[in-house]
Amino acid sequence: MPRPLSATIHTAALANNLAVVRRSAPKSKIWAVVKANAYGHGLARAFPGLRATDGFGLLDLEEAVKLRELGWAGPILLLEGFFRPTDIDVIDRYSLTTVIHSDEQMRMLEMARLSKPVNIQLKMNSGMNRLGYTPERFRAAWERARACAGIGQITLMTHFSDADSERGIGYQMEAFERGAEGIAGARSLANSAATLWHPAAHFDWVRPGIILYGASPSGVNAAIEGAGMQPAMTFASELIAVQTVAKGQTVGYGSTFKARETMRIGVVACGYADGYPRIAPEGTPIIVDGVRTRAVGRVSMDMLTVDLTPCPNANVGTRVELWGNALPIDDVAQACGTIGYELMCAIAPRVPVRAE
Ligand SMILES: *Cc1c(COP(=O)(O)O)cnc(C)c1O
Repeated sequence: MPRPLSATIHTAALANNLAVVRRSAPKSKIWAVVKANAYGHGLARAFPGLRATDGFGLLDLEEAVKLRELGWAGPILLLEGFFRPTDIDVIDRYSLTTVIHSDEQMRMLEMARLSKPVNIQLKMNSGMNRLGYTPERFRAAWERARACAGIGQITLMTHFSDADSERGIGYQMEAFERGAEGIAGARSLANSAATLWHPAAHFDWVRPGIILYGASPSGVNAAIEGAGMQPAMTFASELIAVQTVAKGQTVGYGSTFKARETMRIGVVACGYADGYPRIAPEGTPIIVDGVRTRAVGRVSMDMLTVDLTPCPNANVGTRVELWGNALPIDDVAQACGTIGYELMCAIAPRVPVRAE
């Protein structure tokens, strides 16, 4: 018997979330972002739920090839572009669209021998200061791209730093408009947060990632409540032991949890080697026997421990939900001081995952 831990990918939830994006940005085409193995869900498992998209955005050439092998004939966008001249052979062969964010990439494309022109997304650094041409240099980069025989369609692209938070997108919209002024071509700006909350940034293509998986761009579940998104992953296990602990006894490594009275502790088959964050503090929410309770004590490699006080009927074999349909991943992430993105991407290879 394998351990009772598994992740389930909800195909219908992915399809629902994509439909929510369609309704939110009805005039835009959608790049469904599936980088990092579809945010930990598995590219092949996520593909059937997302195939009504207009295109897929990702980073790895290998994942792009895998999508073609799954039968996807539509656009695939390399969100960081490419890294070496030999990557361009793969781009050419599999008809990929690529970001160009630097002169190094532009030069590699100019030197490449291609069977047909490559469509690109020319990236502007509108203020985030990771990738792209500054607004001042953008027009020259666009002219250079236009003069390159190996380049086909040019879409103008940028990425937001604060679409989910107080600063907002204004400062970058202003920089983008300035740098792209008078340049024809489609535009692609909006991540999940801008797709939901900044319609003025929708333009021709939106690029949602996290909301397709049913989590919030801001990390706060309340922010997407009412938007109609559903969790695309349920991470669940079982109790493999129950301990009755007397007042004053401690639980787990470092004795970080001390019982204030006699209580029952459940031992869950899930630890940090499965992708559950070791940093999860006492009080991190967890569902046992359908009841929301709390993690106590330190998360170990293969196990974690929970307070069974609110679930008196729980015993060995009782179902435990780490996150998913009954518990937003955002709530777990928030308790851990991180965001749902990090937790879903961290599901470990040893965890069996199935799609339904
Ligand atoms: C990851 C990524 C996205 C999607 O971001 P979300 O916050 O998950 O919606 C969009 N665009 C680019 C360039 C990205 O790297």
